Amino acid sequence: MNGWKHRLRPAYGPGTVSGFGDGEQRQRAVVLAAFSVTRDAMVAALMEAVTEVNPGMDVDRLPDTDVRRFVEERAALAGVKGLDEGETWLRSSGQLLTDKQFVLLQACFRAVNRAYPVDAFGTVLLAGSPRRPLLRCTAPRCQWARTEGVLEHLLLEGVEHGRTHGAGDQ
Ligand SMILES: [Zn+2]
Repeated sequence: MNGWKHRLRPAYGPGTVSGFGDGEQRQRAVVLAAFSVTRDAMVAALMEAVTEVNPGMDVDRLPDTDVRRFVEERAALAGVKGLDEGETWLRSSGQLLTDKQFVLLQACFRAVNRAYPVDAFGTVLLAGSPRRPLLRCTAPRCQWARTEGVLEHLLLEGVEHGRTHGAGDQ
């Protein structure tokens, strides 16, 4: 595959551990999972979470950390399939929403845009090919690069590495 190359998006979270209850004795491990999601999937997840907790909530006043927590908890609950379904729902729901739902949806779009800024690309570039992925850093004077290993692990390393650079290094 040619042209297989893009910058890693920044990663957010985890900001919470889902499924933990006080007094729980059976836990064996905390499993970290990462979801690669579109903006529409995040908006749908936020809308579902807010609707469940309090549909009258002023989403424009929610702190970014709360927006991310809502999205993250919804992702943990719904999984990849549920996130996809949410996105599909969002794209097909246009005429079916009540006025109140429409206002809430617009607020959810604004909240996702501010909590997950679209222009905040990292310095790490994913290149190479799917069979031989290459990650390298584009920050000035940085020699960081990785070629060995499973793609998913490399991506996590790249996200970790990206955090070592300040915002002005792009
Ligand atoms: Zn670097």
